[in-house]
Amino acid sequence: MSEKTPFEIARETLKQITLRKLPPTPVNYQAIYHAVAGLPQVELFPEEHLRRIAQALPARNPGQEKQLGLLDYAISQRNWLGVQNALLGYSGFAVPSGVPHPAAPEPLSADAPSMMPQVLEQVARLIEFAQPAFGGEDTRFHERMQQTLQALRDPETSVIRVRSLLADFNHRLSFAAEEQSEIRLALFKLLQLIIKNIGELSPDDAWLQGQINALQAAAQPPLTLRRLDEVEHQLKDVIFKQTEAKGRAIEAQESLRQMLAAFITRLSQVTASSSDYQEKMEDSLRDLEQAKTLEDIGPVLRGLIRATRDMRLETVNVGEELQSMRAQVQAKEAELRKLQAELERLSAQVRHDGLTGALNRQGLDEAFVRELSTVRRKDAPLCVALLDIDNFKRLNDARGHETGDVALQHLVAVAKENLRPQDTLARYGGEEFVILLPETGLEQAMEVMIRLQRELSKRFFLARPKQGVKTESGGEVASADQEKIFITFSAGVAQLTVDETAEQALHRADQAMYLAKRAGKNRVVAA
Ligand code: GH3
Ligand code: MG
Ligand code: MG
Repeated sequence: MSEKTPFEIARETLKQITLRKLPPTPVNYQAIYHAVAGLPQVELFPEEHLRRIAQALPARNPGQEKQLGLLDYAISQRNWLGVQNALLGYSGFAVPSGVPHPAAPEPLSADAPSMMPQVLEQVARLIEFAQPAFGGEDTRFHERMQQTLQALRDPETSVIRVRSLLADFNHRLSFAAEEQSEIRLALFKLLQLIIKNIGELSPDDAWLQGQINALQAAAQPPLTLRRLDEVEHQLKDVIFKQTEAKGRAIEAQESLRQMLAAFITRLSQVTASSSDYQEKMEDSLRDLEQAKTLEDIGPVLRGLIRATRDMRLETVNVGEELQSMRAQVQAKEAELRKLQAELERLSAQVRHDGLTGALNRQGLDEAFVRELSTVRRKDAPLCVALLDIDNFKRLNDARGHETGDVALQHLVAVAKENLRPQDTLARYGGEEFVILLPETGLEQAMEVMIRLQRELSKRFFLARPKQGVKTESGGEVASADQEKIFITFSAGVAQLTVDETAEQALHRADQAMYLAKRAGKNRVVAA
């Protein structure tokens, strides 16, 4: 028995009737009252019997179909008057005038029975559409989902059953959604860890480090599909280059090591008489054993080549043999240089600029094709902006090439912060950048570029003056030898016309940029 007072029970009962939107009939009042008070239920409303009667009634025309819907609804609401009116309506008798249809106390519920199958179908589809987001691992969750779907689509189903199934399903759904979000976070951490480890594998490769930093910056939440796509491309670039470089370098290193070992052994035989040479050879062999990288082998190699060049060899045969070996070593060295050049070429093939992490020309070309086809399909505008840093040569000359490099990275960092994720930023050449702004009209694109200029005028980076060169004024002194550097740019903006190619639009943007320079720099001009 409940410990509530009759007054509290009565109040709670009324509250429940209102909350559940039940008609305030005596039947409902009594059923809820008993439930609240913890009293055994007395079946005052023979729901099951009435439902069987309703099911036995055929729907021969739309009118009867509607009345059967109303009857079903009245039964689910435990509403006697509603049952009576629906049966009268079904049999063709008029419902007494002046009596509001109790099954339909307000407009929304008047439509409810006829709307119900459609609403239930929509709910079922909603659940089905959401299904892929929850994976297929939780079998219990899926069983519940199927059960709910079945009940929603069963014409015989009762509102009470649907309600209880949906409540249970919602409860499980909230856990499943939470779990999915945790899985996503964990995957994120894993991605960051992988990127970090790739970076640590080759700490001495500056190009790779630049790529890794860019990758780490790109793989930050919130993730969009577009961003993931970019991360995937960048990661592929890095892995491709690393595998290529490592495989070939190890191969070259190994054959060089073998050849050098043979070379030194041979040489030591020839020069057995000279203890001075003998010692030198032993030193070289030791150095070679300890060599870990190509850089370590280089000095050993150079020393030996010098030594053999200076040597007067006593035996002609051995001399010739050594000659050929020296030629082989030199060929190997040339091959290594070629490999280095090849690696440079490979870097150029990837889609990101090593210094700034922005897309390079190749990446820009691909992004342009992608964006163009998307906006043309959607019939949306696309703008392209070309910007060129002002007086960059002067900055390089005054503060050194490294400061120039930092300025380029600074520009990219500020631009990335200020652009939308769907915008594309690419390094077009030395200090020139291209920005693609999809679904953006010319005026808006101009505003974006002007906003970026304003942002740059507020943000600085610190640099030391170039050694031995007197710095120009323009930067405030920030510390003993560091100065605040601000950069500006001039830009041209073009909106692609319907029949224009990417190159033509870029050309127009370039011309507008040139006009911006002519007009005094640090401004944006529309093409
Ligand atoms: P303007 O305002 O008319 O654009 O003049 P500017 O000095 O910016 O342009 P100019 O074309 O005369 O000089 C561009 C300089 O950019 C020359 C080149 O040495 C330098 N540069 C190109 N690529 C890089 C780079 O990767 N790093 C650095 N530090 N400098 C670069
Ligand atoms: Mg330029
Ligand atoms: Mg310039």
